[in-house]
Amino acid sequence: MALYQNGDELAHKVDACFDKVHSPGTAAPYSGIYICANCRDEYACNAGDPLPPQNHRQHNPSTGAIRWKLLIQTQNGPS
Ligand SMILES: [Zn+2]
Repeated sequence: MALYQNGDELAHKVDACFDKVHSPGTAAPYSGIYICANCRDEYACNAGDPLPPQNHRQHNPSTGAIRWKLLIQTQNGPS
């Protein structure tokens, strides 16, 4: 589970972008932290870079396919 110290630096947002599932190796649509919905492994990825493939380090194939979901979306500059 992702950790943080100062919650004032995070903002809650309800958006479909957090529900969408991404396959391994596809380009990350947003910069941020992604979580595998099956094994809960977390991975920081920049927008446009490929999400980790099927052999990502903790994923046990017996739990099903890797299913990346956006967990924390990072933002640049003033919001
Ligand atoms: Zn996984």
